[in-house]
Amino acid sequence: MADNLFSDLGKVGLGMLSGLELYESEEKKAEVEKKEAAQEAVPEEKDYLFDKGYRCPVCDSEFKTKAVRTGKAKMLGADTDLRPKYQGIDSLKYDCIVCNKCGYSSLSRFFNNITSSQAKLVKTNITPYFKGVDTKCETYSYDEALLRHQLALANAVIKKAKVSEKAYTCLKIAWLIRGQYENLPNETPDKNKVVEGLKVKEKEYIKKAYEGFVAAMAKEMPPICGMDEWTLVYLVAELARQCEDYAKSMKLLSDLIVSKAASTKLKDRAREMRKLLHEYV
Ligand SMILES: [Zn+2]
Repeated sequence: MADNLFSDLGKVGLGMLSGLELYESEEKKAEVEKKEAAQEAVPEEKDYLFDKGYRCPVCDSEFKTKAVRTGKAKMLGADTDLRPKYQGIDSLKYDCIVCNKCGYSSLSRFFNNITSSQAKLVKTNITPYFKGVDTKCETYSYDEALLRHQLALANAVIKKAKVSEKAYTCLKIAWLIRGQYENLPNETPDKNKVVEGLKVKEKEYIKKAYEGFVAAMAKEMPPICGMDEWTLVYLVAELARQCEDYAKSMKLLSDLIVSKAASTKLKDRAREMRKLLHEYV
């Protein structure tokens, strides 16, 4: 009997091992495998986040907000309009910073770029009316992220930000809306209708982003929102395509393809996009 396999071990002081199981039972094996699998489970959205500290350049209060750990989320690729996509999390949801005390808000890249006269505009036109956002949530839903970005867009208008900041914030909102309908649960009632509605909303922001970036190209010096001249030309060409302004899109792509300064990678992307345009132009 199995019980006796190790019955003599007591003689060498190892009596506690007398119950050792010689062959692992299938059940036990399955249990161990299950435990191991659980340990390797895909991380949840909250696992990618940490609380990052900021000091508000408008009201000087210190606060913490959700941010994505650098290098934690693996980039899977990008859409034709350069929207980045990550595994396990839509990082774009966390790219907006809100000071919950005074209501000042912007995309992270612009947060500290505020002059004292702009801060005054925020203090006068936003702070007295601002009721605060939800700061207790562990992760942001798309609705929460969109609300924060809309607040950033309103701040950009109030503080008379550069046209590129407004355009970039519109683009980020359009990307969030795209993320929202791509990630809608299948059981969403009237899912197709909801998706169609969100696509209409996305287009409105894309149009505003297009309009703003065209103006920014004419009056601002690159880099604009972190993009060099030709990356911006590529982006505007793609926004023009999405807005069905095909002739403009084609013109920008042709300029890009023959330019000496644009990278080969960008030119390849531009050639790909030009193929998409040929059926219209
Ligand atoms: Zn503040």
